[in-house]
Amino acid sequence: MSKRDYYEVLGVSRNASAEEIRKAYRKLARKYHPDVNKAPDAEEKFKEVKEAYEVLSDPQKRSNYDRFGHADPGEAAGAGSGFGGFGGAGADFSFGDIFDMFFGGGRRNPHAPRQGADLEFHMELEFKDAVFGKETDIYIPRTETCSTCGGNGAKPGTQPERCPLCRGTGQAETVQNTPFGRIVNRRICQQCGGQGRIIREKCPTCGGSGKQKRRRKIHIKIPPGIHDGAQLRVSGEGEPGINGGPPGDLYIHIRVKPHEFFRREGDDIVCVLPITFVQAALGDEVVVPTLDGRAKLKIPAGTQTGTEFRLRGKGVPRLRGYGQGDQRVKVRVVTPTRLSEKQKEVLREFGRLSGDYIREQSEETFFNKMKKAFMGE
Ligand SMILES: [Zn+2]
Ligand SMILES: [Zn+2]
Repeated sequence: MSKRDYYEVLGVSRNASAEEIRKAYRKLARKYHPDVNKAPDAEEKFKEVKEAYEVLSDPQKRSNYDRFGHADPGEAAGAGSGFGGFGGAGADFSFGDIFDMFFGGGRRNPHAPRQGADLEFHMELEFKDAVFGKETDIYIPRTETCSTCGGNGAKPGTQPERCPLCRGTGQAETVQNTPFGRIVNRRICQQCGGQGRIIREKCPTCGGSGKQKRRRKIHIKIPPGIHDGAQLRVSGEGEPGINGGPPGDLYIHIRVKPHEFFRREGDDIVCVLPITFVQAALGDEVVVPTLDGRAKLKIPAGTQTGTEFRLRGKGVPRLRGYGQGDQRVKVRVVTPTRLSEKQKEVLREFGRLSGDYIREQSEETFFNKMKKAFMGE
């Protein structure tokens, strides 16, 4: 029989690196593995790929092959089926092993304890609750062990039985003797689906799964000072473990709603306080809203717009460690509109006293000028 060139089989160049060869092999083995590929020639192709890899992955064999090709004098004599052979006579070659290597499992003990899956929960918090913390109950749907059968899935009074086909291993093994050696093929047992046991009479509550969907109430404590985007872990409140393994965890993702007046900057609360130009000029004592009530703030005479004042300790409690941030109050001086004639008169007088020469404009005149300038009226 004529053999294809090993490099050609793997689709790599003659100076391919060991890594390139390994990659090409993995890709092709996955493609032609008889458990995956049901084409009639898949098994033949798989063997061809495997053989090529066995030679090209071994530096000694590869160098021999590069020099002598398939007709290597040393090897051909012994193996009978040409250079390298397929593991030689009597060698055990297991598809199962390769299958495990590529697909990560199949041979896992079905009875081994495994941790339950983690659960995720999204929670929206009011701004204030995020600052001061909150205790609350949440309801999460999760899978729990069936209370009727205790999780074994069998009707009360009956027990699951050991699978007679696989004798409880959950795996079916077929052994084939081929010219290339003994081929052991491991698959999941058809009869029990890999469980190793079968249930003759199913539990009426869970239908044999041993699990029930339940809405579970969980009491949680949101620590004060939590941030938007934070994640809380409640350990042991995920899905129950399998075969007596530990339960998974519950992860709570926090989103904090924005506040109408307040904004967080780290552990500080920031707000903008509008004041009149009279307050700014003469000074005043004002009442400022805080998250837990009100606080007094002294505005000194001659305060400029944009000035920031600090209310110590009126910010967010620090999540780790002691103390809390401040509330920062940014002052914005608001220019008055809709003045009465009397107010205007006082302001004109004020202007004269300040030595200002003012060309007074009414809002209307100004608007009309704009219109003329831009619209050519
Ligand atoms: Zn049940
Ligand atoms: Zn079975």
